[in-house]
Amino acid sequence: MTNSAKSILQIFVVAILIIPAFLTSSVMAAEETEADYKVTTPPKCENNKGEKVSYIAVDRARKGQSPRLAAGMANRDKEGKPVIYRSNFSAAPPEFQKFIDRHECAHHQTGDVDRPHPPRNGPEHLMNESISDCIAILRLRDEEGYDKKGFDKVAAAMRNDMQKMGFPEISMKSRVSNIKNCFEKYGPADEFIAGILERRGLLDR
Ligand SMILES: [Zn+2]
Repeated sequence: MTNSAKSILQIFVVAILIIPAFLTSSVMAAEETEADYKVTTPPKCENNKGEKVSYIAVDRARKGQSPRLAAGMANRDKEGKPVIYRSNFSAAPPEFQKFIDRHECAHHQTGDVDRPHPPRNGPEHLMNESISDCIAILRLRDEEGYDKKGFDKVAAAMRNDMQKMGFPEISMKSRVSNIKNCFEKYGPADEFIAGILERRGLLDR
């Protein structure tokens, strides 16, 4: 393991220790108002085996249900094709929609989708979530040119969402500080992903 891989590992271990156990596996955004945002075009996504990942909108308009939640889920469909399900994306600001897409894509890029699911809310699961968050913010920085202002929009939407779902301050802080650290200090997403795959023995395909 390289030194940079070690430091990455340490960062995540620290992040994981302070994320409470009820963090869910999907990124969700809640909006109190029924305001509809324009749904963004999803980014290109390819998994670690070089397969193209498709996006599928699964909006179920459940009116009267408050708050509306925007969520993503990375999986394989019935035919075994890698997919990302996008639900209620119009409930989240565009910056956060873009973050959710890339977070879910990261679960494909790192091979999470095809690996055995770690126990829900256990340390390994939380680490996977931190890694996906990290990759998502790196891609927004490098591909979409997000600067401090863009970052702040993502962080604000993330906080807003977690607050509405009842997360305590410490979880919001920890999650935001993880993406801030990645955004400010990490190299390109591709290199980071390669490091993760290498550690998992998935680099050669
Ligand atoms: Zn996730």
